[in-house]
This record gives sequence, structure tokens and C-alpha cells, in this order.
Amino acid sequence: MNYISTRGLAPQLRFSEILLGGLASDGGLYVPESYPKLSADELAAMRGMNYRELAFAVLSRLIDDIPHDDLRKLIDKTYTAEVYRFTNTGENAEDITPLKTLEPGLHVLALSNGPTLAFKDMAMQLLGNLFEYVLDKTHGELNILGATSGDTGSAAEYAMRGKRGIRVFMLSPEHGMTRFQQAQMYALQDDNIQNLVIRGVFDQCQDIVKAVSNDLEFKSKHHIGAVNSINWARVAAQSVYYFKAYFAATHSNDQSVSFSVPSGNFGNVCAGHIARQMGLPINKLIVASNENDVLDEFFKTGVYRPRPETRHTSSPSMDISKASNFERFVFDLSGRDAARIRALWGAVESGGSFDLKADGLFGRVPDFGMVSGSSNHANRIDTIRTVYEVYGTMIDPHTADGIKVGLEHREPGVPLICMETAQPAKFDDAIREALGIEPVRPAELADLEAQPQRKHVMDADVNAVKQFVVDHSRQ
Ligand SMILES: *Cc1c(COP(=O)(O)O)cnc(C)c1O
Repeated sequence: MNYISTRGLAPQLRFSEILLGGLASDGGLYVPESYPKLSADELAAMRGMNYRELAFAVLSRLIDDIPHDDLRKLIDKTYTAEVYRFTNTGENAEDITPLKTLEPGLHVLALSNGPTLAFKDMAMQLLGNLFEYVLDKTHGELNILGATSGDTGSAAEYAMRGKRGIRVFMLSPEHGMTRFQQAQMYALQDDNIQNLVIRGVFDQCQDIVKAVSNDLEFKSKHHIGAVNSINWARVAAQSVYYFKAYFAATHSNDQSVSFSVPSGNFGNVCAGHIARQMGLPINKLIVASNENDVLDEFFKTGVYRPRPETRHTSSPSMDISKASNFERFVFDLSGRDAARIRALWGAVESGGSFDLKADGLFGRVPDFGMVSGSSNHANRIDTIRTVYEVYGTMIDPHTADGIKVGLEHREPGVPLICMETAQPAKFDDAIREALGIEPVRPAELADLEAQPQRKHVMDADVNAVKQFVVDHSRQ
């Protein structure tokens, strides 16, 4: 299996070669040269498999340059009831992603039982083990430099803590994250995790990371890497839980289901697209946006118009004005026309937009099952309240966006599965506003904010960050 760039001008590579990298050398994203198709017999055999078996069945079709025995070990070590133990309503942790049924035909897929209580743990935990494995083989080392406004940083730190050959330098803004989110990162005491708290806002953190990454000499001398949302292994690993949910919600492979996905960078729903391309009977993939509705606008009008400004909302992990994984979907929509993608993203990267309605490409969207909707703060609060009152289930604001939009597209006879992307404990302000009570929290994390914290507060200064990396990456 070779991987090709959506822009067609980068070398074809194997899975392990794209694992540690970000963008392809031509600025595109790597995708499989073709999607492996699962036969009816193979799909039948998958019904009844547990999470680890399913992960192997799916990922071994996408990763063929890691010996199968090794891949199986990495998967078995990742997807355990111990890692995904933070269930808060009595679900079976052995399911890894338990399906909660609100009423017949309406389900919530619990994706946030991992260490940081958000769905990013689903892929990031595997990534940590894959990175360690590959670096071990090559005797390499990696200094991961990142910026976070909340969920990604903690998921990366928990995935990389204690891993041989890997250090994490995570920049976060002094203000802007919830106390719970800060404590999740800063309470980590592992030597290979460094929290750099920047006196500034998230955008300044991100600018520093970009500036360091653009210094190619520094980057290669100090083995700087990233774990951003365009990483192919993250997307691939996320496709597994679409299979898990499908088999949990249906009795026979003749049925189809729809998924509603709270979306920002289009990574989660892109994984659903891949599962569908591999042959999983998915009816609709429902893309849910918040007030930052760049994706909803596209699926309604055919116009993709990244915004100059991102709005701060009460579902902050979806506050994204440019959906980085979207290029993978448009590549498939265009019939894998790399020249076309170069032209479209050429326009986007020079600050413009594109319109797929005029030339008929937009007419193919229904073949891919994608529909969309968006929600605002009032909708979110309302949905948290209704779901709690009617079904007795407490959901976080991102999951609320997904349920609100999902219900608008619900069809009789087609099970609707809404992705739970975070636990309510992470977003207590919204829960207090909607329900007037404190969110439920896994017992183990009861005193998280009281634990000693380890962090380095510094000015928003590129050179100071570089010096810190140099000083702290000596053996
Ligand atoms: C990251 C995140 C999202 C958005 O996922 P994408 O893959 O970027 O579309 C939604 N909800 C939560 C809680 C997240 O952390």
C-alpha cells in the first residue's frame, strides 16, 4: 500500500514514512493510493469482534509495512479497559467505545473514556505507541513541539508520557483554558513532558510553533516533529470506532446507520468517510458545526470560504475557521484530481475561496452521504437540558452540537449514532448554565486541580522557546 499526496507532486511513500511527518512536500495531505474494500464475507466476520480485533482488521489493511504481529501487539497494548477506564455512567470499559442507547434508534457513542476525557485519546494513544515503535527501530529521537488551546495538548502529552526517544514541548496560553484542562496538562510529572505557558494568547503560541518549524535547519538539527490533526495515522485509527459502533447498533449487515459528528478540523468525520469508502454501510455522515460554520456553508452551498477570524464559542474545540482535513475529502469528491486540488487550495492559501457548485462537482456530494448543520450557544444549552431531562444523560457542549444537528437529519428506520467527543466534566461552565449543577466527573480525577503542577511560564518569544528546547533535549 502506497500513500499519495492530494496535490500529486510529492513522492509516494509507505505508512511508516508518513507516520512522523505532517504535510507532504508539495503542501498536500497523504491518502492511500486506493481504499481497501472489505468484502461482504469480511464484514460478516467482523460482526462480533471486540475493539482490538476490529482495530487490527481495519488497520492491517491500511498499514502493511509494520509486521502484523507487531501491529497486533501495538493495538493490544493501546485499546485496553485500563487506558479507556474513565466511564462515568457505568458502561462496560471493555467496549472501549461503549454505545449508549437514548431510545430505540438513537444512540450516543462514548469516545471520551480515555485519560483526557476527549475523543482525541482514541487515536493519540495509538500514535504514542506507533511513534515509540518506529523510533526504536531507527534509533531515532523526536522532540514534539505543539501549541494547544485545550484538548489536543493534553491528549498528546498523555499519549507520549514516558515514551522512549520522545519529548513533548507543549505551548499553551496563560489564560483561556478551563482550570480542569490546565490541571490535566500541568499536573503531569513525567521528565519527557514540558509545559511552556506563554504570556499571551493561543494565536501567539501557534505563531511560535510555525516560526520554529519554518527554521528548517533548527528543525532537522533538533529533530522537531508535530502531532497535528492532519496526521494520517490519527485519521486512520479513528475509522475503527465507526465499525465498532455500526456492529453495536445493528443486527445484520443489511442495515445501514447514520453518524452525526461534532466537527472542527474535519478529522473525525474524515475517518467516517474512510470507513464508508472501505465498505461500511453508512447512510449519512452528518457534519455538525458551531458558530464557526465554514463546513456547514460548504455542504449547503458548495462554497468553501475559510474565515479570517475564529469566533470563541462554548464548544471551543470546534472553533476552527479552516478545516485542515477537508482537502482529503475534496480530493475524493473530485475523482482524485490532484491538479484540481492544487488550483482550489492555491486560491484558499492566497486568502480566497472556491465554489464547486458552478462546475457540477458539488452535485456529487450526496454520493458520499455528507450533509450538515450548525448550532449556536442557545441551541447547545437547550440540547444539554433536553437530553438530560428526557433521557437522564449528561452531555458536553460539543456532543450537544452533534445531537442537535443529527436530529435534524434523522430518518425513520435508520439508526442515528451521535459521537460523544468529550465528557461534560471538561466544560463545567456550560453544564452549570444548562442544568444548574456540577458535571459528573470520574472519581479518580476528583482532586485533579489540587495536584502539584509543573510548568514554565515564559514570554511569547521564539528565541526563548528555541533555547528552552535546546537546553532540555540534551541527553
Ligand atoms: C477536536 C474536537 C472536535 C473536532 O474534531 P475534528 O476532528 O477536528 O473535526 C470536536 N469535539 C471535541 C471535544 C474535540 O476535542
